[in-house]
Amino acid sequence: MYKATLIPGDGIGPEVIMAATSVIEAAGVDIKWDEKLVGQSAMAKYNNPLPEDTINSIETNRIALKGPSTTEIAKGFRSANISLRQRLNLYANIRPIKSIEGVNSKFKDIDMVIFRENTEDLYMGIEHMIGKDAAESIKIITREASERIASMAFSYAVKEKRRKVTCAHKANVMKLSDGLFLSSVRNVASKYPDIEYEEVIVDSLFMDMVMNPEKYDILVVPNLYGDLLSEMGAGLVGGLGIVPGVNIGVEAAVFEPTHGTAPDIAGQGIANPTAAILCAVMLLRHIGEKATAERIYNSVCRTIKEGKYVTKDLGGNYSTKDMTKAIIDNM
Ligand code: NAD
Repeated sequence: MYKATLIPGDGIGPEVIMAATSVIEAAGVDIKWDEKLVGQSAMAKYNNPLPEDTINSIETNRIALKGPSTTEIAKGFRSANISLRQRLNLYANIRPIKSIEGVNSKFKDIDMVIFRENTEDLYMGIEHMIGKDAAESIKIITREASERIASMAFSYAVKEKRRKVTCAHKANVMKLSDGLFLSSVRNVASKYPDIEYEEVIVDSLFMDMVMNPEKYDILVVPNLYGDLLSEMGAGLVGGLGIVPGVNIGVEAAVFEPTHGTAPDIAGQGIANPTAAILCAVMLLRHIGEKATAERIYNSVCRTIKEGKYVTKDLGGNYSTKDMTKAIIDNM
């Protein structure tokens, strides 16, 4: 039996996370879940968006499955997600962006994995007002963090037999900060002569990604560009409801869907459970349950390809529970 932390999250979080745990259970993998709170639900109970109890549980179990949590825009408490990544040193965000047959999207053959540096850049949240009419936000890039994300991307490329790593940057303008990111990735690339390596200025990458996304394989990017690219990548394969992800470091891995709490549909039971279930697939691969992971993955693909028992965003008229049941039946 495995042990893992379960964070249902806010909005549609509990609906899709329960779908994922029920699929794992039906597949026969025994995980004892330690349920904890983050975000708005934690604020309501503990007046703290990231309780120590939650951190302790993830540190002990080293694995968590997490739903999205609410962050207020331009006010309120600091993003619990960012605090969680910094507290547990979850230095990499990995997002596989892969086409699924049957999903209505502009492209059909996308298969890329984005490695986003997850602890620094403008996302460190070091900002302050200068008087009342100016604000300053500080961008931090270090060689250590940049080499660490690059090493993870290259070693993944070798392990998964991928062909190419692309580094995105804006070192033509931010010569010191992005320049340091670029030179750090170059350093790591030089140790992997068998993997093709290329560098692209991030704005031109955005343009090329919407024209020729099939060209890209592994991408390694600083935090802010990585956030934007991952979201666009989700759009290229059919939307937020189908893309999983993981925030991972040396000590722990927190698997969570790309999408947010979807307040517009929360509580209606109509959220697409695919992203959360594919997070479960990633989690199972991570703990070594590879055959079960593939069984679930194939079943998700089959259910979507059949196109019958799918949620509204996938062109169907079924609920989260109906789609989850179809996935379990297809296993
Ligand atoms: P969102 O992803 O919640 O919603 C964007 C759109 O996509 C909405 O129309 C929503 O209905 C739809 N959508 C998202 N997931 C879906 C699913 N599984 N099935 C069907 N439709 C789905 O993004 P937002 O509205 O920008 O953010 C809402 C809240 O979520 C904010 O508080 C934000 O901070 C938070 N958020 C949290 C995380 C996280 O915890 N990792 C990530 C992103 C956003």
